[in-house]
Amino acid sequence: MNIRVRFAPSPTGHLHIGGARTALFNYLFAKKSGGTFILRIEDTDELRSTEESMNSIFESMKWLGLDWDEGAMPDLAEKGNSGPYVQSKRQDAGIYKKHAERLLKEGMAYRCYCTPEELEDMRRKAQLEKRPLRYDGRCRKLSNAQAEDFERQGRRPALRFSMPQEGKTQFVDLIHKEMEFENAILYDFIMIKASGYPTYNFACAIDDHLMEISNVIRGDDHISNTPLQLNLYNALGWAPPDFAHLSMILGSDGARLSKRHGATSVQEYRKQGILAETLRNYLALLGWSTSDSKQIFEKGELEEKFDLKGCQKNPAIFDPVKLKWMNGEYIRKLSKQELFLLAKSYMVESGIDIECQSPEKAADIICLEQEKYKLLSEIPSMIDFFFKEVIYSRDAVDKVFRAHGVEVILNGIKDKYSGLGNFNEAEIEAETRNFAKSNGFKTGQVFHPVRVAVSGRTEGPTLFKMIERLGKEQTLKRIDKALELLKTLV
Ligand code: GLU
Repeated sequence: MNIRVRFAPSPTGHLHIGGARTALFNYLFAKKSGGTFILRIEDTDELRSTEESMNSIFESMKWLGLDWDEGAMPDLAEKGNSGPYVQSKRQDAGIYKKHAERLLKEGMAYRCYCTPEELEDMRRKAQLEKRPLRYDGRCRKLSNAQAEDFERQGRRPALRFSMPQEGKTQFVDLIHKEMEFENAILYDFIMIKASGYPTYNFACAIDDHLMEISNVIRGDDHISNTPLQLNLYNALGWAPPDFAHLSMILGSDGARLSKRHGATSVQEYRKQGILAETLRNYLALLGWSTSDSKQIFEKGELEEKFDLKGCQKNPAIFDPVKLKWMNGEYIRKLSKQELFLLAKSYMVESGIDIECQSPEKAADIICLEQEKYKLLSEIPSMIDFFFKEVIYSRDAVDKVFRAHGVEVILNGIKDKYSGLGNFNEAEIEAETRNFAKSNGFKTGQVFHPVRVAVSGRTEGPTLFKMIERLGKEQTLKRIDKALELLKTLV
């Protein structure tokens, strides 16, 4: 079978974690089966859809490496033979109207003239009588005279689907297995709104058919839409695609993932400095696993291993701590040059004059702490003292500079370092240890004040590597600065 899948976001905001996971699973499913991955934009919500959101979704998908084979493209371009791929353009082309009219003609749809107030009233009554809140079908059997009367009043009709009222709608979901819905609980959903715009359920089913989608893979918040769409396929005499509904994503408190759990959009994570590779790997494990519960995947491995059989129906928990851990793992795998290029923009953004060092030196400095980074956005504050004046943290001064003998130590170290011809890690270390030994200090007693003197803080990269990178001139200058500071301590 020709596998064709689609990701069909509504452009009403940035690409969020749930959407990105759906896009990824569709992408992986297509790659695994040699199929086609399509991007369709579902902008039938005229009020909330924006071009800005559409562009932001394109950008996040590109960043995540989820390249699509067909679909809407930036700058209103399109790729593929099943277009247009933006629903508003399909609407302009009369695609939805054509199918809606066919259903109307064949008696499987009807005009509904109910006003928003009447619908609201209906809902309120149903609520009071504890009946299901669904359209009661009152316009199903309107006489021509009644319809003409409404038209004369200036009412514009919506088109509703005539849902079978008896029997069941069944399907086998590839993840949830057998699903069954009593038709009596389904409802006559609107296909075309009074504005002329199609609704999600209508446009989605029409497009999935016309685009020859073989598998619909989407979040399980859409599971209740599937029987509506299946009845539509049935009415039109079309074979439906296979469905797979992905598990919900919850925050660690068990509530549906939302803003109050922190960042929810791909671009927010990008900004924090989660790598695209990390996010892909992390998202892949939200509701999917291999039989051996593999956690970190090599390049290309997800495309090879992904299988809908590994998807579970129970909700997945979004764990930001695990995401950060995983990012650390990915950062560690980067080459020096890769890390430098990724870190650069974060450095510049936090006001660091990265050009004050040569690119090789800057890369070298950034990589000193590679083992420790969990987010790219943490990098600047961890190494900024290499690029700007040292600032002594109050905490470091209180903890380290007030100890006995610090002045003697810094003066002694200054002398030793001044005499060093070869200012490299090994020489600096030997000289520092030597000084401690011959003056009866413990190494820690010497290392701590030297560290604070040159970096302003109590923690950081390996001391001697750090001093070598700072260079002789800077190191001596900073020790002098620390000695000045010592004089002011009371
Ligand atoms: N536009 C829908 C959404 O963003 C797509 C649902 C579907 O995949 O059918 O939720």
